[in-house]
Parts: sequence; C-alpha cells; structure tokens
Amino acid sequence: MDENFPQKVLRQLFGFDSFRPNQEVIIKSILSGCDVFAVMPTGGGKSLCYQLPAVIFDGVCVVVSPLLSLMKDQVDSARELGIRAATLNSTTGKRDFVQTVQAMENGNLDLLYVSPERFNTPGFIERLKKNKIAFFAIDEAHCISEWGHQFRPDYLALRQIVDIFPNVPIAAFTATATAEVSADIQKQLRLREPFCVRASFDRPNLSYRVVYKDDLSLQLVSFLTSVPGQSGIIYRGTRKKVEDTAKMLTKHGFDVRPYHAGMSDTERAWVQDAFSKDQIQIIVATIAFGMGIDKSNVRFVIHADLPKNIEGYYQETGRAGRDGSPSQCLLLFGYQDVILQKSFIDKYEDPQVRDTTWRQLQEMIKFAEADQCRRKALLRYFGEEYSSANCGNCDFCNDEIHRVDATVDAQKALSAMQRTGNRYGIGHLVDVLVGAKTAKIKQLKHNTLPTYGVGSDKPKPYWRFLINALVYKGAAIMKPDCDYPVPQVTQYGWDIMRGNEPVEIIQFPTLKKQPRTKVENEDVLTDSIRNDHDLFEMLRQRRKELAQERHVPPYVIFTDKTLLEMANQKPMTPEDMLKIAGVGERKMEVYGMTFLELIVDYVLVTVEEPEFDPEWLE
Ligand code: ADP
Ligand code: ZN
Repeated sequence: MDENFPQKVLRQLFGFDSFRPNQEVIIKSILSGCDVFAVMPTGGGKSLCYQLPAVIFDGVCVVVSPLLSLMKDQVDSARELGIRAATLNSTTGKRDFVQTVQAMENGNLDLLYVSPERFNTPGFIERLKKNKIAFFAIDEAHCISEWGHQFRPDYLALRQIVDIFPNVPIAAFTATATAEVSADIQKQLRLREPFCVRASFDRPNLSYRVVYKDDLSLQLVSFLTSVPGQSGIIYRGTRKKVEDTAKMLTKHGFDVRPYHAGMSDTERAWVQDAFSKDQIQIIVATIAFGMGIDKSNVRFVIHADLPKNIEGYYQETGRAGRDGSPSQCLLLFGYQDVILQKSFIDKYEDPQVRDTTWRQLQEMIKFAEADQCRRKALLRYFGEEYSSANCGNCDFCNDEIHRVDATVDAQKALSAMQRTGNRYGIGHLVDVLVGAKTAKIKQLKHNTLPTYGVGSDKPKPYWRFLINALVYKGAAIMKPDCDYPVPQVTQYGWDIMRGNEPVEIIQFPTLKKQPRTKVENEDVLTDSIRNDHDLFEMLRQRRKELAQERHVPPYVIFTDKTLLEMANQKPMTPEDMLKIAGVGERKMEVYGMTFLELIVDYVLVTVEEPEFDPEWLE
C-alpha cells in the first residue's frame, strides 16, 4: 500500500489536512495487523483512528461501544462521511438486524457498532465468525476494568476475542488516564504485545479560570450574558441546586434545562438529545450528565460548586471544545463549599473512604488555590509534565490571581469572632466588621465593640471569603450541634491574633467585572466569530434545518469549527470549499453547494459596489 494512503483518505473522506497527534501511528499500527492500546483525552480524535482503517481494510471493523446514544451518533457521523456503518444493539428492530447482517455478509459494511451485551450473545459470535473481520475496536475500554469508575461486566466477554479470532487485531481506546487502569485493560483484553500510545492530556483550546464564588446567581447571569448563543454546561452539586439554578436562569430569559438522575429516563434522554441538536442552549446538571455526550461545540463548562476530585473536574471540563475551538472552563470557588463538603465527608463511616475522599478534595482545593499554571497542575495530576513556563490560557498564567498578606484582616475577623463570644454565624460577623446598622447589631450592642466597623474599607464578600478561608485553614472551627454554621476561634487562630502566624490568601477576581480577557494565542477563529458573526449564524441556521430534516445532531453535518472557518475564509468555489477542514468529498457532494450558495450570496450582497462616477465616463 502507498505510504501516504491514510493521508489521502484523511483529506478526501474526512476533509482534514493533517492528523492529530498520534492518529497516524495508531492507524498505521492497525493497518500492519498489530494490537493497539491508546489512551487519548476526550476530543483527541479517537473515532478517526478506527474509522479510517475500517474504510481501507477489506472486511468489517467491529466497534464495541458502551452507550446506545453514543453509538447512534457515531453511526450517523460515519454515514455522513460516506462510510458504510451500522449498529446492532438491544434497540435494533428485526428488519434492520437482517439488513445489517446481510450487508456484512456481502462485504458491504465498513463499521459495525455493537453493544457489549449484543456481542455477548452466543449466536452473535457464531455469526461474526462467518465474516471477514478486519479488526476489533474497543471504545471506552476502561469499562472492562473493575478498577475503573465505569465498570461494565458485559465488557468481560471481550476477553474471548483473542481465542475466537486469533488472527484479528484489537485496538482498544480509552480516555481514562490512570496507569493502574491502563495496565488492567491490557491484561483483561489479553492484548498481544500491543503498540501503546499515551497522548498528552493537554487540551490547549480550553481556558481554565477560577473566580471567587460570591453571588452565584448574579455571577452566572453575568457570565451567560457575555456568551450569547453559545452552548454550555453548568454543573451543580445536588439535584435541588440544579433545579433552583435552572429556574433562576429561565426567569432571566436563558434557554436552559435541568438534568439529573432524579428525572425519568425519557425526560433525560430528551434533554440530552435536544442539547446535542442545539435545540437547548444550556444544561444545568449534576455530574450524572456527560457520559455519552459527543457534542463537539460545547463552548463553556461551569462548575458552580466545588468538584469532589480533580479527575472528575478534568472529565467534566473535558466536555468543552471537542471540536478544537477555544472554550472556557470556569470554576466558582469559595471556602464555604469546602466546609460544606467536609461536613459530609466527616459523616462517612468507613475511615478509609473518609480519608481518600478528603485527600481528593484537598487536591481539588489546592488546584483552586493555584500556586502554579492550572494546565500544569492538571497534567501533573495525570503524571504528565507540562514543559512550557506559561500556557497563556489560564488565569494563573494571565496574571489574574494574586496572593496577598491578609494577617491584619485575619486578626480583625478572628477578633470579631472572639469578642462576640464565638456565638454568631458568618453573616453577622461580617456585619460587625463592616459596621452595618442592623437591628441585630443594635439589639446586641455589637456596635460598641472595638472591632465594630474595623473592616469597613473592604466589601462584605471579601470578609465572607476570608472567614471561610480561616475556617478551612484551621484558625476557626465550626461549632458542632448548631442550627447554622458558627465559627469559633482555635488555638491556631489565637496564634494568628497574637501576631505569631502570618496569613496569606488568594485574591481571586470576582466575575462581576467579567474580564473576558483576550488570550494572546486565542484562535483567529474567535475573531471571525465577531467579524463574520452574521454569516456564521446563517450557516448555523441552515445546518440546523438540515439536521432537523435528516434527524441527526447538527455537528454531524459540520462542526462549529468548520462553519467558523467557512465564515472566516468565505470560499467562493467548490475547490475552495474542499480546502475547509471538515469538508471531505462526500460532504461536499451532499451539503457543499447549499452552504457555498449561502456564502456566495452573503459575500456578493455585503461587498460594496464601487461608486459610479459619471465624470470618469467622459
Ligand atoms: P474523542 O472520541 O477522542 O473524544 P472524537 O473522535 O469525537 O474525539 O473527535 C473530536 C473531534 O475532533 C471531532 O469533531 C472530529 O471530527 C475532530 N477531529 C478528529 N480528527 C481530526 C483531525 N485530524 N483534524 C481535525 N479534526 C479532527
Ligand atoms: Zn497556565
């Protein structure tokens, strides 16, 4: 085979000019008949690694995939590219089943997606044996590991593949990063000296930012106003919070739906599907949302409550920007969340679980407190060294986070606590510090205390933040058995008050100012959003109509990134159109002209006619 053949197929079929990191070596290994084990982050482009060789090989590539919704989207996507793909799972009707099996037997199928349950039925394996199998692709391979977080017993059936199909290569893919699970997957699948790839977990197009969580509703409204029309996910810690936030945002006129495990399956499926199809702009969800979301144009992921661990945070933020376009990850952080979560953790019976959970939460807090580039911190968590000194795409590197000495303020706050008898909640302490004139203060005569008003030079949120931080640092503890959280000065707090211990805190930006910093290396595409926004919107609208007609998610037709590039480059001929990343031959044939016409129209109408100058005629 011609060395450059995969490259040609990449251009013609997928419409991409170059491979993403590791795609080419993976594809070549599969083509050479090797087993492959690949760990790549979400958005790394795993599907292409097996779709492309599936087209080149004779015979069918059997893809085992754990989720029905994912399978359906993958089949739709592949078919849009002109790949002969089908799925067999528990929802496949008899007619489709027969048709698919026939296509396979006649050699008319490139890709067959099956659920592990389907694979595990004896009749099915017998049937497979009668066909020419090019290779097996195991998607979400960590589902085979009991050590992973998404163990699926049916995946264990895949252990038989090497016995039943000894000459057929297996390519296993996962985005789960830990070394233990990786080793276990290879062992469970019994891979034969696999070619192993571990891609970088860096997602350069994601920006990471942590802001101080103060007035959540106001902050969310302010953020969403700054990203009109963009798709995004807001994660909240509990179902109730999900419901509340969704209601609040709906009242403010945003296109929002809630999603959590308390909703019926049908409701959830509907929400997920509508979000995929761009019919819902924003989802407010618990962490139940996300598995099986293939949507490529999620432009922001907000964590409105502190995630429980870094792994979860990474996976959830990873749902943003699969198409490679700039996307934002925002964490709203406050020590009040830490204290709340700690109080839950303390209630765990099993000391081992308690310790692990607390250690994981502490890692997360350390991440929020940023003593280094956020990207570097995340990657280090997964055992990867980020080499650049400044990533240019996080708040730490953009110099938005400052550490300040807060010893004097800490003394003021602790003194307010002490002088009011360690008996009042944070709200009241803050009122005392800023010198508020509340009825409670008058009644308790707290306006006569020496600490009354000593903090009037700083806003209330600052003091709330500081007091919570002091509790987290152990300078105060929440008294047990109170109806509401009441902090009490500890020995360490006394040391601070006596000037024996310095206190440093982080000054997070709050969101209200909405810095919307322009990152230096931010894709030119973002500019094009602004400049050619109208055209982009027209293309999007057209895509939405086509998607509705064809019952597929819009990104299956073209991704946002592709549309942005069209709006930016404004191709005027089919040849130009084919140069756009994401426009392959088949998509050009099916959709190219529709979009091309729109662009040509747009360009001709908006280009100014040279003014007619009668003098020039003479
Ligand atoms: P994963 O399964 O690893 O999360 P996907 O296979 O869904 O990632 O790919 C993510 C996105 O990247 C898709 O929109 C896909 O079309 C795009 N993509 C994949 N490979 C390339 C490439 N070589 N060049 C440009 N875009 C690519
Ligand atoms: Zn950085």
